[in-house]
Amino acid sequence: MRLLLSKRAILFRVACLFLLSALIGSIWSLATEAMLLAALGLLSWHYLHLFKVDRWLWRDRKLTPPEGRWSWQQIFDGIYYQQRKARYKQKQMRAIVRQFRDGAEALPEAIVLLSDEWTILWCNRLAQLLIGLRWPQDEGQRIDNLVRHPEFQNYLHRQQFKEALVLTAHHAQELVLEFRFVPYGDHQYLLIVRDITQLKQLEQIRKDFVANVSHELRTPLTVVQGYLEMLEPGQLPDEAMWQKIHPVMLDQTLRMQALVQQLLALSRIEASGPVQHEQVVQVPELLHYLEQEAQSLNRDKQHSIEFHIDEQLVVKGSADELRSAFSNLITNAIKYTPPGGEIKVSWQRQHNKAVFSVNDNGEGIAPKHVKRLTERFYRVDQARSRATGGSGLGLAIVKHVLSRHNSRLLIFSEPGAGSSFSFSLAAEDDI
Ligand code: ADP
Repeated sequence: MRLLLSKRAILFRVACLFLLSALIGSIWSLATEAMLLAALGLLSWHYLHLFKVDRWLWRDRKLTPPEGRWSWQQIFDGIYYQQRKARYKQKQMRAIVRQFRDGAEALPEAIVLLSDEWTILWCNRLAQLLIGLRWPQDEGQRIDNLVRHPEFQNYLHRQQFKEALVLTAHHAQELVLEFRFVPYGDHQYLLIVRDITQLKQLEQIRKDFVANVSHELRTPLTVVQGYLEMLEPGQLPDEAMWQKIHPVMLDQTLRMQALVQQLLALSRIEASGPVQHEQVVQVPELLHYLEQEAQSLNRDKQHSIEFHIDEQLVVKGSADELRSAFSNLITNAIKYTPPGGEIKVSWQRQHNKAVFSVNDNGEGIAPKHVKRLTERFYRVDQARSRATGGSGLGLAIVKHVLSRHNSRLLIFSEPGAGSSFSFSLAAEDDI
């Protein structure tokens, strides 16, 4: 606890000084001169301490105060105490600011603090990555001088920040960014920039998906509807007419059914949780069943279909999903191989891997299509695929199933020569 300077003590000391000097001076009858001399001494003593304070505060810049006497000692101590308090507060403030900055750095969004004149006060690292700001070089620069997109400039000048602004980044075309201005403090703004590329892509995929499904269903529905409208209500079609329309309507209905089944299969796979890798899948059994199915599809013996199955080779995963992947690849080979073609299905061990492959000598696929085959609704030849009852979802399902089983579909194909679709899984004893 500091004591305040006592006025009374000071007055007492000054009075004593002048009294003493007057007494001493009166010995030589020079009391006034002696008092003047004392006043001069007192003034010099105070000036000396003023110089000490000045040197301490402006030149030495040390924390420890200079030596002082009486009242000056108290003043030095007071300044020293206030300085220490200020330093401690400063340290605390610095720690708080650092914590806030660390927090802003940890945010998954780009943050830029702007003044009322749109100049940059501070930005985090993500702002440097997403909108290409440089820190600290860009401090004090106007944001609209650095983000030069015309739409951004208009948005900034309109100052209607209720709606966010969505832009494609000027330095990276594939990046879609959302800009949002949030007012704070005294006419200051917080600019928050979010990378919404993935969100936009997902939105686009969803839109495309709905458009594709509608498109796929529209054609068969129009055909069936057209025939039904041709028929008079309450009147059965004549034999010739019935012969003509029945197979077409049946065909179109089967097409819609196949599409709905594939859609359900896809959504079931997408909705199910992670694959339980404890379940052993008896793949040889499953493939024998699919072999019978393939042979019955090939009733007219148009193709030669061979299965080479390692009877001991099993894997762990989801039986339903793997069945769907095997089945899609086998039926595709049958669908896209002209009559008389050869199809070889193999399930063999290669080192510690279980490898499944379907080879055909069918029409083959041009390289430009190969990498897009697993996209939903992608077909090389729309008309040909539809004619064979294809939904365009088969390979998308295979890709999805395989990614859930930590595998990948490999496609090798040569137009006119044939195709090979294969993938590998960890053989059971390795899991
Ligand atoms: P779809 O239901 O149309 O068969 P898929 O996703 O199963 O759909 O296959 C996508 C496209 O890949 C098919 O439309 C076809 O053009 C091509 N394709 C798939 N398998 C083969 C194959 N074995 N030989 C030639 N083309 C194939």
